[in-house]
Amino acid sequence: MTETTEAELLSTLRARIRDAWQADPVFIDPIIAAGLTDNQRTAIEKASQTTAETGLSHFVAIVPGIAPAAEEDWSRFTSDLAYAMHKDSGEDQTLVLISEAENAARSYAYLVGDSGPAMPKAADMLARSGSDDFLPVELAVPYQLGVLVAAARSTDPPAPPDFDTRDVGDRDEDYIEATGLDNDNPDGLVFAATAAAALGVSVWLLRRRTKYSWRKSLTTSPTLVGGGSLERKAQKALEPLPEPIDDESWDVYDRGRRVQEALSTLLTDHPDWAEDRDFSHRHAVNVLVTTARWVRARLHGSASADQEPRFCFLFPHHRTGVEEFVLRQPGTTLTVDLCADCRNEIDAGGEPERLMVPKRRGSRRPVPYFRRSDAYAQSGFGSFQPLEDALLDSRTSPEATSTGGRR
Ligand SMILES: [Zn+2]
Repeated sequence: MTETTEAELLSTLRARIRDAWQADPVFIDPIIAAGLTDNQRTAIEKASQTTAETGLSHFVAIVPGIAPAAEEDWSRFTSDLAYAMHKDSGEDQTLVLISEAENAARSYAYLVGDSGPAMPKAADMLARSGSDDFLPVELAVPYQLGVLVAAARSTDPPAPPDFDTRDVGDRDEDYIEATGLDNDNPDGLVFAATAAAALGVSVWLLRRRTKYSWRKSLTTSPTLVGGGSLERKAQKALEPLPEPIDDESWDVYDRGRRVQEALSTLLTDHPDWAEDRDFSHRHAVNVLVTTARWVRARLHGSASADQEPRFCFLFPHHRTGVEEFVLRQPGTTLTVDLCADCRNEIDAGGEPERLMVPKRRGSRRPVPYFRRSDAYAQSGFGSFQPLEDALLDSRTSPEATSTGGRR
């Protein structure tokens, strides 16, 4: 199979699974649906219902066996899909289980939070029973979902079911025939390939979790205020501006006056801006101070003041190589100013760090600053409108009270 064909197959499968999950948290690939026994289907449905009763958002996909050669692509595919489902779900945590139905049920079980997908400790890809046998799909799915629920709630994982291929007893499960597990030596080759891929995926997940740990916490660096220097700069920015020397500089002068007015409003409304856990205030002060310095240089006729300062939308203290960029967001696109580093990272498929602030006053939940509705979000630190204009507008708009501004 060529790489393209495989990539196409995976992308078709991805679309099929995501579409199906819109309607039902259980997706059974039609290719294998007919091959499942009633007992298997019932066990899967029942496990999904039990999980739904916990109130946790969850998705289960039962798919045909994946060729060992494609295992690494498959690992990546499943964790990306899990992450995409989490983003859609809008919940704090999302449980995603993708399991093969053939032979022993090889599965990928993900607990996804805002920092990315993680595999709970007990969620081995080839789950083993209490009697050390590999679990068929009708036992693996309820067990793996139980492990995910326990991981989401930080409780102990359930005990693995007791399942002995050599002594089926009088249990009515028809898995022996359905899964071909009627020998006491499961396919060692399959297991080796799976173990290698599991190692690969956990290294990859770990890297991803470290890389995206900023999502889980409020921004705490850079502090920008280093030793009171930003406070001093802010006071300096409020000093009277030089008089305009010609008609053209009146515009610059007017802008300087608005910047000063916005800055003094901000300092009055948020006297603790330099210590606030909400770092958007200090970034705002920094942006206004930088703009004020440019205004002053222009009014002094400085040749170096041609370019008005621009700020990166995602993290306004990024100033290098800022250019317009079309940023894709869930359900929309935004044209914003982005620095060269952030543009490069997005082009490479990553998500650059954002300025993370409390969702609302006093809240501990971090959100990107632009997810709120205050003046900082309205302005995008200059991407949508100059920050000083947004701050001055917010004094008179109805939202001003809810975001802590003054009328
Ligand atoms: Zn940037």
